[in-house]
Amino acid sequence: MIRYRAAWILPIDRPPIAGGVVAIDRGVIVGVGEHDGGAVQELGKVAILPGLVNAHTHLELSWMRGQVPRSTSMPAWVASLMALRRTVSHEPPEPIVEAIREARTAGTALVGDVTNTFATYEPLHDRGLSAALFRELLGFSAPDPDAAVAAALRQIAELTPVAWLRPSVVPHAPYSVSPALLRAIAKASAGRPLSIHLGESAQEIEFLRSGTGEWRALLESLGVWNPSWTPPGCGPVEYLERQGLVNDRLLAVHGVRFGDEDISRLRAAAATIVTCPRSNRWTGAGEPPIERFYGSGVRVAVGTDSLASVEDLNLFHELAEIRRLAPSVPARQLLDSATRAGAEALGFGADLGTISAGKRAELLAVRLPSRVADVEEYLVAGVEPAAISWLS
Ligand SMILES: [Zn+2]
Repeated sequence: MIRYRAAWILPIDRPPIAGGVVAIDRGVIVGVGEHDGGAVQELGKVAILPGLVNAHTHLELSWMRGQVPRSTSMPAWVASLMALRRTVSHEPPEPIVEAIREARTAGTALVGDVTNTFATYEPLHDRGLSAALFRELLGFSAPDPDAAVAAALRQIAELTPVAWLRPSVVPHAPYSVSPALLRAIAKASAGRPLSIHLGESAQEIEFLRSGTGEWRALLESLGVWNPSWTPPGCGPVEYLERQGLVNDRLLAVHGVRFGDEDISRLRAAAATIVTCPRSNRWTGAGEPPIERFYGSGVRVAVGTDSLASVEDLNLFHELAEIRRLAPSVPARQLLDSATRAGAEALGFGADLGTISAGKRAELLAVRLPSRVADVEEYLVAGVEPAAISWLS
């Protein structure tokens, strides 16, 4: 057993402990608290906190880094991403490996990784990065939704089972998945976290209200528009409720265009909003109403989205952007979002997300400057990888 003492310990499920101690035995946390005078390994001027949780990314798109220019219209941005994706026959593996290395170096312990191919499964396995793997389905005019879900489930069954990699089938978004496919996925997802891009763009709100606009034009240009689809005439969360997807396992990713009613429906269902503000700016989706998320009491987790729409996979940089957009939210809540909330939403709450006895000791030591007025505020101001090391 090793006992580490640090300037600050942030267990997340209780307030920071000045000069506290965490005890680790063979990779498992066995105790945390005040220093009782026993023998310790002194780490000095560092803050120890749980490894961070990136609740929404697409590691397989890492090869697109910097190649899909910023846009002012999200459908236009998606169209250029799709055009770029058509230029390759498969997702190149090296950028995935590099992205996992980068996420690790920046203190990430767990990812919610959206995939269409499972190209990330082996690299995640090799590097020991835990993941909820979301096998994403699209199909606005899918002829046989049950068969599409069954095929994805067969793909999952063929993977080598790994305790820290947990795959499930999820839908892409309301404008790219038919109601019947949404319902088929909901049926297949029982007991598993279910992630969907939701309320991301103004055009999505228009599409659900009236069936018009840029998303419809894109579906038509791709030849996948379904003329029998009738617009539900409601908001995105109510629409998902009607298909049976809104419950405590739902991760509603983005929510840039959520109104108070959307947010309170998610709050009532104990669902999670995953905010990725840097990506929202890049794609032209806009600025998410982060203060309203927190003000409602809904669970909020944090994601970077993919390297196609963000500069890096450093969650500390994402936190700094959230801090900029939501100055009134206590830093403690932001750190909770980037650790415990994400771990719970991804189904890893028993393993990761807090420093508490019995959980895996995937812990970060962040080097602090000699004078820190508020350690929590310091940690949401943007931490660079050079200041981060993993406790072992
Ligand atoms: Zn995404």
